[in-house]
Amino acid sequence: MRIESIQTHLYRVPPTVRISDSIQSIYIWEWIITTIRTDSGLSGTGWSYTLGMGGSALRAIIDDYLAPILIGSEVSNVERIWQKCWQELHANGPGGFTTLAIAPIDIALWDLLGQQAGLPLYKLMGGARDNIPAYGSGINMHLEGEALAEQMRGFLAAGYRSVKMKVGRDNPEEDVERVATVRKTIGPSVGLLLDANQKWSAGEAVRRVRMLERFNPSWIEEPILADDIPGHTYARAHLSVPIALGETLFTRYQFADYIRANAVDVVQADIPRVGGFTEWLKIAKLAEAHNLPVAPHFAVELSIHALCAVPNGLILEDLQGGSLTDLDLLAEPWRVSNGVGVPPQKPGHGYVWDEKNLAKYLVTGKPRDVTATRA
Ligand SMILES: [Mg+2]
Repeated sequence: MRIESIQTHLYRVPPTVRISDSIQSIYIWEWIITTIRTDSGLSGTGWSYTLGMGGSALRAIIDDYLAPILIGSEVSNVERIWQKCWQELHANGPGGFTTLAIAPIDIALWDLLGQQAGLPLYKLMGGARDNIPAYGSGINMHLEGEALAEQMRGFLAAGYRSVKMKVGRDNPEEDVERVATVRKTIGPSVGLLLDANQKWSAGEAVRRVRMLERFNPSWIEEPILADDIPGHTYARAHLSVPIALGETLFTRYQFADYIRANAVDVVQADIPRVGGFTEWLKIAKLAEAHNLPVAPHFAVELSIHALCAVPNGLILEDLQGGSLTDLDLLAEPWRVSNGVGVPPQKPGHGYVWDEKNLAKYLVTGKPRDVTATRA
């Protein structure tokens, strides 16, 4: 099965719910969706996303530099194709735009291999389990008091046994109050995950998390700038709360550095950001070899396959307002049900785009409304 054509489109999709954390608000998601057609008649799709900027650059990298060198390639050579793409782009940096541009291609290739094999992706990639618990994830820095409790009650009513909330307000007492509200609402036995989105220095992280330890959080996510590995080593040595991170890391080498430095407890590699399933699986196995669980960031439709493929999957992030189903982009909705994610059973990734709805968000030429949406 050989690649005949590679077509990539950019879509800018407004969130359906308000989204804010300690460092940013999100006004537009960008989806970069690649369709690979083959001489077998099968076609596969893969995608990357951004938090509102860079999508047109990713589309151009794929169209102008990656697609032309891949036409005619054998689809089953996913590793060879990944390396070829990485070497092509590596001089501009090993991760970030490089890996975000590789991901749509890599994911589309895996989709094709699953279709060819007649297997859903999670089985093709290892089939370690058939389902996984999910957590209700709120990007909810703007919520407090009754509004925050209401969101958490919604998660419980939907069947989640773990929830996540944002922390990192300028006033530490406000974090204490908000976390207290959530713990009181969810009771003692529901998992409580905290996410600071890289807000603090290492010393500040220790001080701030100690103020929250009494609420028994299951992890503190991204307490410190992701580039600061020694800072995480320090914080981990001084805290009882496990440290989760990885959404802002882009290569297996960065994860290896973190693991060697005893700086991480839960590995959250994001499938599009690390360049697709090929690289993600390596990171998951690296974590497994160090007895660490994986809990990939975002991209719930991809993460469900990845988590059920490997033995060290911990939990699935189901971000309120952030799934393709929430955004009405799938022809057949896929949802976490009663707090548990079950992968689609169709061959490949199993998702079919709603082309009519997608077309509403198609960007032709340059994105036009960037300044307006970032005001
Ligand atoms: Mg996060």
